[in-house]
Amino acid sequence: MNRCIDCNSLMTKDEVICNECGSHIPTTKRDAAGMFASLVTLAFWISLAFMIAAAFMPNGPKLSVCFLITGALSFLMRTMNDRDQSVRKR
Ligand SMILES: [Zn+2]
Repeated sequence: MNRCIDCNSLMTKDEVICNECGSHIPTTKRDAAGMFASLVTLAFWISLAFMIAAAFMPNGPKLSVCFLITGALSFLMRTMNDRDQSVRKR
């Protein structure tokens, strides 16, 4: 059983459009994108932790490398959030 994200009414598994309010429920593709987004968010926090660790440990990971990875991940996160919002607006 699914629930509508907008009006919280019950929907069958096969229904993709809500009977009550007509909104689309998230598809499997969207769920995969959401899972990828949470993975990127997790990787971002891990690399941020590594960056902080690198700042205090001379023998630890390289600060410049961690900084690059953290920057790239934060850019990826922002890009995905933007795309997510543009999908919701439609
Ligand atoms: Zn609904």
